[in-house]
Amino acid sequence: MSLSTEQKVTTAINPVPAIRVSALNQGKVNEQGQYILYWMVAQRRVSWNFGLQRALEWGERLKKPVLIFEPLRIGYKWASDRLHTFVIQGMKDNQALCEEYGITYYPYVEPKQGAGKGLLAQLAHSACMIVTDEYPCYFIPRMVKAAAQHCPMLMEQVDSNGLLPLRASGRVFTTAASFRRHLQKTLLPFFASEHFPMREPLAAVKDLEKAQVSEQILENWPQADLNHLLNGGIQTLPIDHEVKVVDLETGQGGFQAAQRLLERFIDERLWRYHSDRNALESGSASELSAHIHFGHISVHEIAQRAFEYCDWHPQKVASKPNGSREGWWGASSAVEAFIDELVTWREIGFTFGFHRLDDYDQLSSLPDWALKTIAEHRDDPKPYIYTLESFEKAETHDELWNAAQRQLIREGRIHNYVRMLWGKKIYEWSASPETALEIMIELNNKYALDGRDPNSYSGIFWCLGRFDRAWGPERPIFGKLRYMSSDSTMRKLKAKNYLKRYATAQQAELF
Ligand SMILES: Cc1cc2nc3c(=O)[nH]c(=O)nc-3n(C[C@H](O)[C@H](O)[C@H](O)COP(=O)(O)OP(=O)(O)OC[C@H]3O[C@@H](n4cnc5c(N)ncnc54)[C@H](O)[C@@H]3O)c2cc1C
Repeated sequence: MSLSTEQKVTTAINPVPAIRVSALNQGKVNEQGQYILYWMVAQRRVSWNFGLQRALEWGERLKKPVLIFEPLRIGYKWASDRLHTFVIQGMKDNQALCEEYGITYYPYVEPKQGAGKGLLAQLAHSACMIVTDEYPCYFIPRMVKAAAQHCPMLMEQVDSNGLLPLRASGRVFTTAASFRRHLQKTLLPFFASEHFPMREPLAAVKDLEKAQVSEQILENWPQADLNHLLNGGIQTLPIDHEVKVVDLETGQGGFQAAQRLLERFIDERLWRYHSDRNALESGSASELSAHIHFGHISVHEIAQRAFEYCDWHPQKVASKPNGSREGWWGASSAVEAFIDELVTWREIGFTFGFHRLDDYDQLSSLPDWALKTIAEHRDDPKPYIYTLESFEKAETHDELWNAAQRQLIREGRIHNYVRMLWGKKIYEWSASPETALEIMIELNNKYALDGRDPNSYSGIFWCLGRFDRAWGPERPIFGKLRYMSSDSTMRKLKAKNYLKRYATAQQAELF
C-alpha cells in the first residue's frame, strides 16, 4: 500500500507554520527522552497531517524517532459498534502504512472502562515531548487540556482542521457571507506551499531508528489486535451494540476507503456538484464527511484535488473580496460550489467552536434575534409533540421525516437537504426548544458517522438560526426562524423513490 504514486519524495520535514502550533503547558523538552510522542486523537492519518509533521520536525531537530500512539477510548459518549468499527478500520490502514514506512505505531483500544488510565503518562515518561491534535469540539479539548496539566514535559497541540488556521479567523462570524468575505481577504497566503501539510511526511524519515515501547507498558496495555476486533472482537467491548456497523462503502472507515471515495467523487460527480448536489437520486455530493470527521482524509488534500481538477491556482482569483458565493475564485462553477461547502460552511463552524468552546452547544450561543423569536413563540400551541423515543423510532405522522430518520439509523447519514428538514421538524414537534436541541444532538451524534463534529453543531444550530438571518412572514412556532415544509421538500426533491427506499424499518432496525 502506498499513499500515492505521484508523490515527490521529500528529504526533509518542512516546518509547520507557527500559527498552527500552540503549547498546552509550560513543560520543558526532555532531551534525554527516547522519542517524540505523537498522540493522535483527531487527525487519524499519516498523510497531509500537520500534527504528525510537527512531531517529525521535533524528531529531526532532536535526532529522535517518533512514536505514533493512536488510542480509542471506551467511555466516550455514543461509543458504539458503528463508530468503533469505523475508527478501528482506520487504525488498520495506519498500522499497515506505518509498517511500510518503518515507523513505530502503537494502536490501543481500551478493553474496558478505565483500562487505559495511566497509559499516556507512562508513554510520556520516556518522551522528549508530546504533540497532539487540536480539535474545537466534543470531549477532545477537555481531555487534551487535562493531560497537558499533568504532563511534566512540553505538550503542543497542532491545528490541522482547515485551510484557514483557527487562529487566523480572529473572531466569531455570524453569517456565511461575512465569513466568506473574511476568507476572500485572508485565505490566499495559506495556499503557499509552506502552508500546506506534507503529502507524505513519513517518506522523509524512512531510515531513522525506530521508537521502542517498553515491554512493561505493552504487558499492561497490550496493543490492539485490530483483526480480532474487526472480526467479532468488538462484541466483547462495553459499548452500544444496538447502533450497527454501516454496511455501505461510506460506512467503511480508513485512509484507503476515503481515497476511493475521493477518487470516485472527482472522476464521476464533481463536474456536476453545483447543479445536482441536492438530487435525491444520483446526487453529486462527495459523501466524505465521516472520513473528514475522523481525520481519515485531510481537507487540504480534498481541496487540492478539486482545484487541480479545474486547473485552478491562486493567480486565477477573479475579483476583489465581496463575500459573494460565486465568481470570486475564478474556478469552475462546480468547484466553487464544492469549495464553498468544504471551506466556507465547514470552517465557519470550526471557527465558532474555537472561539466559543464554552457554549457552542448551548442555546445561549444563538444570535439575539433568534433567541428573541424563540422566546416569543415557545408557548405557541403545537399540533404534534413527540418524545425522543418516538423520534428515534421514526414514529411521526410525516413519512418523509420518518424516511430521513430511517436513513440515519440504517446508513449513519442523512441526505444533506433532507437533514435540514429533519432538524427543523424536530424543533417544530418538540415540547420546548431545549428539548428539541437535546433530541437533535442525541440522534445526530448517536447515529451519524460524521456526528460529534463542529459541523454537527453548525447544522443543528442552523435549524435554530445560527449563521442565518430573520425570515418573514413571522409564523407560529418558528417565529422568524427559517421555515421548511415536508410537502415543498418532497416536490423540490422528487422524493418518491427515497420514500420507497426508507418506507419501512428493516428487521435489524426494529427496537
Ligand atoms: C441538522 C443538521 C445536522 C448536521 N450534522 C452534521 C454532522 O454531524 N457532521 C457533518 O459533517 N455535517 C453535518 N451537517 C452538515 C451537512 O449535512 C453535511 O456536512 C453533509 O451533508 C455531508 O455530506 P457530504 O460529505 O456528501 O457533503 P458535500 O456536499 O460533499 O460537502 C463536502 C464537505 O463540506 C462540508 N459541508 C458540506 N455541507 C456542509 C454544511 N451545511 N455545514 C458544514 N459543513 C458542510 C462537509 O465536511 C462535507 O463533507 C448537518 C446539517 C444539518 C442541517
